[in-house]
Amino acid sequence: MFDFSKISDECIKCGKCIPTCTIHQVNTDETTSPRGFIELLGDYQKGELELNKNTKDIFESCFLCTNCVDVCPNSLPTDMIIEEVRYDIAKKYGIAWYKRAFFWLLRHRWAMDLASKLGYVFKSCAVKTDNKRGGLIPRFNLPMIKKDRLLPSISSKSFLNSYPENIKSSGKRRVAIFIGCLANYNYTEVGDSLVYILKRLDIDIFIPKKQKCCGAPAYFTGDFDTVEYLTKKNIEYFESFIDEVDAILVPEATCSAMIKHDWEIFFKNRGLDDWSKRAKKLNQKIFMATEWLYKFTNLEEILKKSSVKLDKKVTYHDPCHARKVQGIYKEPRELLNKNFKLVEMSDPNRCCGFGGVTIQSEKFHLAKAAGKPKAAMIKETKADFVAAECSACRVQLSNAMFQNGVDTVFKNPLELIAEALKRVK
Ligand code: SF4
Ligand code: SF4
Repeated sequence: MFDFSKISDECIKCGKCIPTCTIHQVNTDETTSPRGFIELLGDYQKGELELNKNTKDIFESCFLCTNCVDVCPNSLPTDMIIEEVRYDIAKKYGIAWYKRAFFWLLRHRWAMDLASKLGYVFKSCAVKTDNKRGGLIPRFNLPMIKKDRLLPSISSKSFLNSYPENIKSSGKRRVAIFIGCLANYNYTEVGDSLVYILKRLDIDIFIPKKQKCCGAPAYFTGDFDTVEYLTKKNIEYFESFIDEVDAILVPEATCSAMIKHDWEIFFKNRGLDDWSKRAKKLNQKIFMATEWLYKFTNLEEILKKSSVKLDKKVTYHDPCHARKVQGIYKEPRELLNKNFKLVEMSDPNRCCGFGGVTIQSEKFHLAKAAGKPKAAMIKETKADFVAAECSACRVQLSNAMFQNGVDTVFKNPLELIAEALKRVK
């Protein structure tokens, strides 16, 4: 367990974290800043602060972007102690019915498959399709979702149900794909692109059909029972094939950070050291897809030699869980700049403002405010595409651009790389 009081004592109150804080940029109050959160949590542990509706509201406003951790001279884990207190909040106040229903679906793949199918068949009753952006616009105000909002599309068939378990190539190397729920049900073109790239590189593909959600949505909401359930199932499953693959590729920053970074800490904090060690052991073979493709294949060389030049401008947004948590920012850029004109936006490292299930539902005004400057800096680049290896960023940025009249289209870098590779003979 984190000792909130100790962390509070270790905060030297330098304020370096404050200008970088996503919620503080939206709500410039000391209570909604990393330094403020830490102080409040220290008081809470000492019994000097009650967990009431007001403090619940404060602790649920953090975007968990990790900007504060990145700049803090003492590397204080503000995001993680917020996640911990959300567990206490969930115990005291419960979790809203629709979030519980969503997490239940995440625990039961068959039910999520069914819900997604029904959503696809009946979507036209509630939403209209925006083909240009690849999203859905509600026809009327839904609970928690207003009709001025762009929602993710729903695919007719999930990624996991679209491919056989094994796709054979040269037999020399074999990787597994962990797809993540948004890319499995909503943005299936991400997985299709990764499969295409791996086939072109003659790498055998294993698509583990029994993989479950990584647990991130539940972790950020304080539903630790769901996290424990999903994580243990995944660890047991990964262990059953880990020695038979070179790597498990994850085309999603949040899922990858959750698996590689948070699983181990989650179990350690619960005193489940054996599970923590098992999670740590798996880490060595978990990679973001662009990282592995860049470091362990000749993809960059192929793209470079191809002399394929696509007359399109791309700007790259750094997902918090890629750059700050895993140090991945160079790899997708190096793969993209061979065939596209890469233009940097003024602050690619600024959080998009997705923030998790609670911010996207109950506190969407915060996500909207955080997304506006990001949409403006994308517009300034005049790029055709904004890329980020993260479907949560895709949900947030696609909507921010839609609401702020920006015509740039979001693509996962793998989609753009596959597009370029298709032109290589
Ligand atoms: S995680 Fe992000 S939003 Fe939360 S306190 Fe840190 S910088 Fe602010
Ligand atoms: S940067 Fe770290 S030490 Fe400085 S105020 Fe923020 S949390 Fe405290």
